[in-house]
Order: sequence, then structure tokens, then C-alpha cells
Amino acid sequence: MNLTIKVLIGMSLGIIVGLIINIGGFNSEGSFVQVYLTDGVFYAVGKMFVNALKMLVVPLVFFSLLCGVCGIGDINSLGRVGGKSFVLYLMTTALAITVALTLASAVGIGQGMEQTADADFTPPPTTPIADVFVNIIPTNPVQSMANGEMLPLIFFTILLGVCVLKLGESATGKVLRASEIGNDVMMKMVNIVMAVAPYAVFALLARSMAQLGLDLLVELVSYVVVLVGALLFHLFVVLMIVLKLFSGLNPLTFLRKMRNVQVFAFSTASSNATIPVTLRTVTQRLGVNNSVGSFTVPFGATINMDGTAIMQGVVTVFVANVYGVDLGLAGYVTVILMAVLASIGTAGVPGVGLVMLSMVFNQVGLPVEGIALIIGVDRLMDMIRTAVNVTGDAAVSCIVAKSEDELDPAIYNDPQAGIRDPHPDAPLPHNPHHGVSHQSEAQ
Ligand code: ASP
Repeated sequence: MNLTIKVLIGMSLGIIVGLIINIGGFNSEGSFVQVYLTDGVFYAVGKMFVNALKMLVVPLVFFSLLCGVCGIGDINSLGRVGGKSFVLYLMTTALAITVALTLASAVGIGQGMEQTADADFTPPPTTPIADVFVNIIPTNPVQSMANGEMLPLIFFTILLGVCVLKLGESATGKVLRASEIGNDVMMKMVNIVMAVAPYAVFALLARSMAQLGLDLLVELVSYVVVLVGALLFHLFVVLMIVLKLFSGLNPLTFLRKMRNVQVFAFSTASSNATIPVTLRTVTQRLGVNNSVGSFTVPFGATINMDGTAIMQGVVTVFVANVYGVDLGLAGYVTVILMAVLASIGTAGVPGVGLVMLSMVFNQVGLPVEGIALIIGVDRLMDMIRTAVNVTGDAAVSCIVAKSEDELDPAIYNDPQAGIRDPHPDAPLPHNPHHGVSHQSEAQ
């Protein structure tokens, strides 16, 4: 049985077990189930797995990006990849929130709903927009790496690679070899961590579902239905049209190969923690050359949040209707701009969408405490929107790679690509393309 199937089984069982615990009321405070299962085994197994994924992110991004920059050889093409992915990421995010605002307004969600008096929400601290750009340049790259900050890490690594290129052939060759080995070692580590994924996904989902407020889901049914509808519409229709239009690639093949990544994003609610899986799938299953994927994937995990933008659009309309505030066209345009800008500087970690939402609300003058209305169902919504976020990252990676002739159609169209060797101990086959190894993966 291949790993994707096992992960899907882990996910389904996790959801079923979690829901049984929740609906049966077995997760009450201090109960055996709560102490030893949900906050015991499930918590520990899930958290250890997420820690292991996060552990991989910084060294993997560092080595694969250094490898990518040295392997690309030409600084101009690096600039093109950066420019194209930036524009596409912002464009898809703007498209996502526009669709969400339109849909939510058409349905009129929140109209006639009572504003709950006990709504209480303390907005988390936000970063001023200017600092979002200032912070891209790290004062101390080691500290940025220690904090897992993606944009400074990307900036520093690209600069390092560009300087290596400027030193000429001999230096580039040596650094490329060293970073290839570093990249191979990290990919091997990804394979080892992935081997326990089915159990970890089970634990993560069983715990999340057990803790879910099902009553709240029912209470906020209109919000949940509109939001999930908009997320699915963006995932299966908008993004796939964009992929087809800009790259001509088959969306069905793309979706089939993305299942694993989506399950990881759903289970962890973190685009950042999913980077190792996204990067591996994009390069080894979808045929994107590492010189493009090593940049577009971590870049996208930070600045591209289509699902989060959709949530912001829907919550804005919802809260505006509940509080009887008329935003007007200017208000909506501000929401779109703010949501796109806010997505640039915020990392893809669980719950960050709420931070961005308070930035948007402040800007358009909506009551920030309105966010309290939806907070009870936010974890589940976060899981779904993160799956949409990572799908957007991978779609843009494919589009950019295809436009640069850096996507191997033979790998993209081969259903077996990257799954021939499901064993983490197997040696890594070498792919001479751009001097980057494309070892098989355990999917
Ligand atoms: N959890 C999301 C992500 O990692 C961000 C969010 O919507 O809160 O992409």
C-alpha cells in the first residue's frame, strides 16, 4: 500500500474516532479519554510529528534554495522566477478574496443575526506594513533561521547563492556539490519523518475533531457553509482554471498528486510545517525543477494565502452584516488591498489568519471584537483554508516552472513519479538536470 493511501486512511480514521469522542461526550475535563488519549497519546504523537516537520523546514529550504540558485546559473532567470511568482501569488490572493466578498454579499450572511453581547476578542499585536518589507532583510541571519522566519531566510540564501555565482565556476561547482549533498540528506530525513505520517495524521485529526465545538458549527452554519463553499470553489474551480490557462497542464493530474500535501496542511493547519511535503511533491511528483520549486514553495508558504484571504472576505461581510455596518465599494476595495498586503508579511502558521483579520478590520473600521463571533469554529476553518493555501503555492510553482521551461512533463504526467521507492532506507537515484538530485519519495 503506498503512503498516500495510508495517510488518507489515517485521516479518515482520525476524523471518525475524534467525532465519536466528541459526539459521545467522552472528552470531558479530567476524563480518562481526555487525560490519556486526546491530551495524552494523541497530543504527544501529533505534536512530535509537527515538531519533526518544523525541524526539517529551515535546513531543507536553505540547502535546496542554495542548490537551486547555484544550479540556475543565470541571475536573470532568478529575477524572472521571483517576479512571476510574486505577481501570481498576489493575483490569486486578490482573486480569492474578491470571489469570497462577492459570494458572501450575494448570500447576505449574518443578516438578521443577533450580535452576541458577550463577544470578547483581544486583537493580537500586528506588524506595521512598512516593517513587513524592512524585516525581509535580517539583521542576523542565524537568528532569523533560529526563529524560522522564511522571508529573511530566503533573502539571505539567495544573496549567498548569487555571490557564489559571482565568484565563478570553481566556487560555484564546489558549493553546488556541497549543497546538493545537504539537500539529499534533508530529503532523506523528510522520507524518514514521512514514514510515520499515517499514525501522526490519525493522532492530529482525532484530537482536533474530539475538541471541535460541534454545537458552534450548527450555530454558525451559514458562515461555515459559505466559507467552505468559497474555499472549495477556489480550490477546484478558480485555481484549476488559472493552472490550465497559464500552463496548459492537466488539473486532474495536479489534484491527484496534491492529495498528500493537502492532508498534511489540513492536519497541521500550517503551510510552513507543510513545506517539506509540498517541496517534495512539487519537485518529485509534479516535475518542477528544484531551481524554481526551492524558491516558490517557501516563498508561497509565507506570502500566498488564498484560503486565508477567502476567510477574511467572508468574515468581513458576516461581521459587517451582524453589526449593521455598510462598508460600501471603497470599504470592499480596502479589504482586498489590506488582505493582500497582510498576507505578505505573515507566516503560514496556525491561526495567523485571525491576526490578519484584525489588521483588515482596523483599517475599514469594523469592530475587532466581532472576530469573537467566529473564533469557535476557526480551527476547523484554518485546517481547510491551509489546504487551499498550499494548493495555491504548488499551482503557482507549476505555472512559473512551465513558463521557464523548468517543468519536466514526463514526471508531471507519470502517475508513478516519485513513488517507485517507498522505503526511506533506499539509496537516492541521481537526476543530472541542473545538478539537482530528485530522489524517489515515499508517497
Ligand atoms: N494556517 C494558515 C497557513 O498556515 C494561515 C491561516 O489562515 O491562519 O497557511
